[in-house]
Amino acid sequence: RPLQIYGARKNSAGFEFGHRESLAQLVKDLSAASFGIAAVPLVSGVAPAGEAQPVLSPADRSRRIGTVVNATAADVDKAFVAARKGFVAWSREPVETRAACLERMADLLEADRIRFVALLSAEAGKTLDDGIAEVREAIDFCRYYAAEARRLFAEPEAMPGPTGEDNRLLWRGRGVFACISPWNFPLAIFLGQVSAALVAGNAVLAKPAPQTPLVAYEAVRLFHRAGVPADVLCLLPGAGEVGAAIAAHPKLGGLAFTGSTATAQAINRSLAAKNGPIVPLIAETGGINAMIVDATALGEQVADDVVMSAFRSAGQRCSALRILYLQEDIADGMLEMIEGAARELNLGDPARVTTDVGPVIDEKQQAMLTGHVEDMRKSQKVRYAGTVPNTGVFVAPHIIELDRPEALTKEVFGPVLHVVRWKAKDLPKVVEAIAATGYGLTLGVHSRIEATVRTVAEALDAGNVYVNRNMIGAVVGTQPFGGSGLSGTGFKAGGPAYLMRFAQEQVVSVNT
Ligand code: NAP
Repeated sequence: RPLQIYGARKNSAGFEFGHRESLAQLVKDLSAASFGIAAVPLVSGVAPAGEAQPVLSPADRSRRIGTVVNATAADVDKAFVAARKGFVAWSREPVETRAACLERMADLLEADRIRFVALLSAEAGKTLDDGIAEVREAIDFCRYYAAEARRLFAEPEAMPGPTGEDNRLLWRGRGVFACISPWNFPLAIFLGQVSAALVAGNAVLAKPAPQTPLVAYEAVRLFHRAGVPADVLCLLPGAGEVGAAIAAHPKLGGLAFTGSTATAQAINRSLAAKNGPIVPLIAETGGINAMIVDATALGEQVADDVVMSAFRSAGQRCSALRILYLQEDIADGMLEMIEGAARELNLGDPARVTTDVGPVIDEKQQAMLTGHVEDMRKSQKVRYAGTVPNTGVFVAPHIIELDRPEALTKEVFGPVLHVVRWKAKDLPKVVEAIAATGYGLTLGVHSRIEATVRTVAEALDAGNVYVNRNMIGAVVGTQPFGGSGLSGTGFKAGGPAYLMRFAQEQVVSVNT
């Protein structure tokens, strides 16, 4: 990882997690002690009312990591009242005060990093490497947005104007901002949204995914310890009704959503149906991400990058490779290498050093993925199917060869790679097929021909293009991340424009 400087502090590349063996032992010890976290809604003055539900590990369904009491629709109303109050004082704090809270949060996370790796492994099934990367990313978001807020918001900008008039542009919070996040990055995406909204001067209602409330609960408690007042950051765990109730609320000032395209569209409709203020939506959604490989590519590197992009994290990354376009001339040899590399992957307990691929998040995802493979089997060729461990919610890596790209019609969020062959003269058709999906998240290109790389990248709207490398693991401040079209609204997370979406401008013109 590159070492970067965000303001006065270097990013998380500057600290270590120790040798993997000792980390694995620490994670095991922490897990053996069992977390026993009892997550509840965190809203000033609200006592948890519902029944505590068990939270079980996807790697071992007999293992209970903690419990959660979900918020109710009435809690959502109370949270808006509390956060509206919190907003008034918070938005008037100097930017420096808010940025300092994010940096204290980063310090606290850094101090508690092993515990978070262990919790990510237990609750979300993250391997050690994925857990480390996620904790680093969460810390980077806090430090990067703190530095960005100072750069963008600290001083009003003097605008040019006629003599005798003083014009200043300033940025302020939008009010109560909702942050609704998915389960696949329960710490990094959750905190990325929350820290951006907070530092821009908003009060925040955070709604984590129902599968991963414990990581979110621990993160919010840490934020409160870092100095963010309780009524400025409320946690509303919930399944089903809570997110919809937040989106429909008349006091909502803005909404940051990361998750599926269908949910973003539903939220968009709900926002549009409301009378009253027009509420901005920041949506970061899915993709049918493609990689194009031509005959000039380096075979071994392609095999590594394909396996990494399609199967690591059990394919549960929005950036993951879903459809691989292999030039016919090299397709047989490449497929043999990719299948060989896939065969080497170790599936199992995510907390073990040797594990490459952990479980998928829950039985619903598992059923969706296995159902997809069975559907595909009827008309397409399943070339490779790995084997799964006996415990936990696992799906083996699969490689399915399609007779045409249109056979894949949706984002398949798991370790299932689709492959299509193409003839050298048909590159424009490949580009057309990728564009026709309407998604624009990530794109991989493996080619040593500069003109091919340039033509393909220019022709497609992919938000992040990866050339001759894998296509996952965007680094905060280095590879700002996010897509367009069905993949999201922009601006990119971890990039220089992101915070502006969370704030609103005001111009003060004074006749001097
Ligand atoms: P999801 O089903 O869309 O859920 C995401 C969040 O939205 C959850 O907290 C969910 O909670 C909530 N939600 C669902 N329906 C809602 C509604 N009508 N109103 C308000 N909130 C609602 O997505 P997921 O399965 O958790 O995550 C996987 C998806 O996220 C994939 O499509 C992946 O590509 C995408 N993703 C994109 C990015 C990116 O940066 N572009 C990053 C990570 C993941 P409830 O179900 O409890 O309502």
